Amino acid sequence: MSTGTCPHLPLRPLWICKRCAQPWPCAVARLALVAEYGADRVGLAVYLCGQLYDAAQDLHRLNPVEAPGPQALFARFVGWAPLRSPPALQ
Ligand SMILES: [Zn+2]
Repeated sequence: MSTGTCPHLPLRPLWICKRCAQPWPCAVARLALVAEYGADRVGLAVYLCGQLYDAAQDLHRLNPVEAPGPQALFARFVGWAPLRSPPALQ
């Protein structure tokens, strides 16, 4: 049942959060993604790389001069994610 609140999803082609207007994925969206994918870190990585690809196209199309560069986009879309398994406890 819907609570009537807008989820923290991307507003394309601007790639800002529909709810809080921060650059997507905002902090809440990142937490939700980590919770959604759980231990499926490969699945999270594949999803985030797809979003990065789409965002790069959209943002460059909107403003080729001032679109974020590859390093900034990677950090924003993929670099934050806990994609490596934690070290095993001994
Ligand atoms: Zn948000």
